Amino acid sequence: MIQEKRQTIKVKVGDQYIGGNAPVLVQSMTNTPTEDPNATALQVKELFDAGSEIVRITVNTREAAKAVPEIVSQLERMGVNVPLVGDFHYNGHILLSEFPDCARLLAKYRINPGNVGRKARHDENFKSMIDCAIRWEKPVRIGVNWGSLDQDLLQRMMDENAASASPKTAHEVLIEAIVESAISSADAAVEYGLPADHIILSAKVSEVPDLIEVYRKLAKRSNHALHLGLTEAGMSMKGIVASTAALSILLSEGIGDTIRASLTPEPGGDRTQEVSVCQQILQSLKIRSFKPQVTACPGCGRTTSTVFQELAQQIEKHLNDRRQQWQTTYPEAVDLKVAVMGCIVNGPGESRHADIGISLPGTGEEPKAPVYMDGEYATTLSGPNLANDFIRMVDDYVQRSYACKVSQ
Ligand code: SF4
Repeated sequence: MIQEKRQTIKVKVGDQYIGGNAPVLVQSMTNTPTEDPNATALQVKELFDAGSEIVRITVNTREAAKAVPEIVSQLERMGVNVPLVGDFHYNGHILLSEFPDCARLLAKYRINPGNVGRKARHDENFKSMIDCAIRWEKPVRIGVNWGSLDQDLLQRMMDENAASASPKTAHEVLIEAIVESAISSADAAVEYGLPADHIILSAKVSEVPDLIEVYRKLAKRSNHALHLGLTEAGMSMKGIVASTAALSILLSEGIGDTIRASLTPEPGGDRTQEVSVCQQILQSLKIRSFKPQVTACPGCGRTTSTVFQELAQQIEKHLNDRRQQWQTTYPEAVDLKVAVMGCIVNGPGESRHADIGISLPGTGEEPKAPVYMDGEYATTLSGPNLANDFIRMVDDYVQRSYACKVSQ
């Protein structure tokens, strides 16, 4: 069973809310050089158009910090209203102080407590960034990453563990150090004067079981809003499956206020895939709805033609093409369920469970395809226009069913 989302401290980021009773939001990050405001603004727009509700950009150099105002004005001109988050490492304290327009225009700062300097400089630099957040009234995400964990903290915890009567394994201490880094940094930020409702935490690792353990511990120890993501998830299927496995378990336990799938795109590949993956995770768990869903059977030896695969693909494409139009005319059509099934074994049953479903003939069956709507037999389609006829029926169904809901 999917548990209700934990109540965390609500944080305002731009025009969005994270945590509390706000929905779980989808985040993404650009991979363009921020120094190039045109390319970056364009990619932010692509991510926004794909459904990203918060977009992070790296702010790693003076040129990148200088480019932020131009990126923000280009986004305004394009009508893109999405909170823009600055990702800072090593020199964030310098950039945020030297470039006040950058600090003012970003909606949130991501601070990695492992990358703000060592020993006394660590506290000084961290405080300097928190002071900027206080000055500009910005929320921060304290984003720990095990690839850049605070080495002084880790060493101290390892030493304490070695001296204890029943020492834990090095891996157990590492997991605790990741959690501790996030919690103690948040406590320090509050001590410096940043309100608790300006803090979001994340603690990313790249192994699924470790991520689950880290976030369960974080959720137990803190009620700050949590951003979830498996860091360095990887490419294509591996990245998607690993992210889905990790995020689904945590989300089903009510843990997580925003999510990101850190996928490595193919060279020249589509950056927006990370947004679609997050949306599909949330929709599969029935946490949020983003687009109509197609249920299709996997096919087997009972269906030797590719007709049903082609129809499932056509329907999927048609629903995607209609998505934007329906967003304004029939917003509730995001909950539409269409079934495209390969034969009589599960076809009629699954089609009855969908809002509208078609059961295509398997090998040796009569070349006719019964269609079901709202659980009832509606008609039987056949012949060369079967695909178009069914697509027309889907459109009619949406108009009829969701027009009523709009006017209600
Ligand atoms: S519905 Fe028919 S074709 Fe599809 S997987 Fe089941 S038995 Fe095979």
